[in-house]
Amino acid sequence: PIYMDYSATTPVDPRVADKMIPYLREQFGNPASRSHAYGWSAEAAVEEARAQVAALVGADPREIIWTSGATESNNLALKGAANFYKTKGKHIITVKTEHKSVLDTVRELERQGFEATYLEPQDNGLISLEQLEAAMRPDTILVSIMLVNNEIGVVQPIAEIGELCRKKGIIYHCDAAQATGKVHINLENLKVDLMTFTAHKTYGPKGVGALYVRRKPRVRLEAQMHGGGHERGLRSGTLPTHQIVGMGEAFRLAREEMDGELGRIKALRDRLAKGLMEIEEVYINGDMEHRVPHNLNVSFNFVEGESLIMAVKDIAVSSGSACTSASLEPSYVLRALGRSDELAHSSIRFTIGRFTTESDIDFAVNLLKEKVGKLRELSPLWEM
Ligand code: PLP
Repeated sequence: PIYMDYSATTPVDPRVADKMIPYLREQFGNPASRSHAYGWSAEAAVEEARAQVAALVGADPREIIWTSGATESNNLALKGAANFYKTKGKHIITVKTEHKSVLDTVRELERQGFEATYLEPQDNGLISLEQLEAAMRPDTILVSIMLVNNEIGVVQPIAEIGELCRKKGIIYHCDAAQATGKVHINLENLKVDLMTFTAHKTYGPKGVGALYVRRKPRVRLEAQMHGGGHERGLRSGTLPTHQIVGMGEAFRLAREEMDGELGRIKALRDRLAKGLMEIEEVYINGDMEHRVPHNLNVSFNFVEGESLIMAVKDIAVSSGSACTSASLEPSYVLRALGRSDELAHSSIRFTIGRFTTESDIDFAVNLLKEKVGKLRELSPLWEM
């Protein structure tokens, strides 16, 4: 099948894989070994990668902590900050359309005695700053609002959110797992205190990520992983040199190639949208203006979700109906935008990227036109 599920994970760029291999073979040293050249060269590679990750987002390399991915970064940020600052207050604000690794972590904090507000997004998927400000309390210690949504690709106003949080002395955490290489991030200007990154959504390997932890003004965290005191005590465990080198190279390439790539990807996405809109009763989910060009999320009215996914097996996409799970729950993100169960179920998330071609797009459009037509002919709900 043609791969159009770049927000689930991206292929590893071959240039990234080439960079990683020597660190699996000859350069196998432990970066924490201080007494010989094996350790020194591994440590140098880790520090070069740290600088590459920092450079993409305008951070100081000392503000980058290695983790196993965005799930761990979100856990470390939220549990770490909530527990460090719990004597200041116990209220946390997030949004109903956050990734599960934020929502379930906040739920767990609620079980431990914290209180949480889950903001409703507007119909276009964006949060309202007025609503955010109204939700802030004197005992609010932490706000967690993502940069790019994984299902609908909308871009939240993180500069404004940061201003508001800083003004009120609230820590701001932002999950940017889906944002690197897609939108410009400059942490020198943004008032974000903690930011989550992962390699495998940006052409790097799975199983490695990072957490940005601001130094000025300094943000403190309680460690969640205890042991050898790696990463300045914030995250113990031997660093996976080859993974880290891969993430560094992936982020270096993103920084170099992003501007050239975005126009091409937007043209492909617009071609996809135009083609699909030629089908009747098709609805785009999420704001089209404040959105990354890599994402198109579309609901096809009058077709049944499961049948639709079965019918388009020749393209690898994600569906708004969790047909792999036993629950048959429609996407909670689309439901939060006010979409009906039916439209949430019959939605498809197309996410494209570096290796998508025009002929991939044309194939997908033709496939959808044919299959949606056929399914509607069979549907009692569709009357023409
Ligand atoms: N946050 C967002 C917005 C994501 O899209 C993902 C990916 O599924 C994650 C967090 C989890 O990332 P990881 O697979 O690196 O743990």
